[in-house]
Amino acid sequence: MTHRCRWPLCTAVVGDNLWGCKAHWRALPSDVRSWIGRTYRFGMDRGEHPTPGYLRAHRAAIEFARAVVAAENRENFDGPD
Ligand SMILES: [Zn+2]
Repeated sequence: MTHRCRWPLCTAVVGDNLWGCKAHWRALPSDVRSWIGRTYRFGMDRGEHPTPGYLRAHRAAIEFARAVVAAENRENFDGPD
């Protein structure tokens, strides 16, 4: 099974055992990556309930991703051109 990369607006499709596409996974801070890795349980994305620990780690990753996307948008809007 596959799912969309969890990064906001990314349309890359990745395997269930991955949080997101390679580029966006690498864009996460290493502490968030290891947090997700520690809390992930195989099979979760096939409908088994995620653990509260994983949800917290996932939320931290999404918050980080949103902040990056927001900063990129600001740069685009306020750029010299
Ligand atoms: Zn992605």
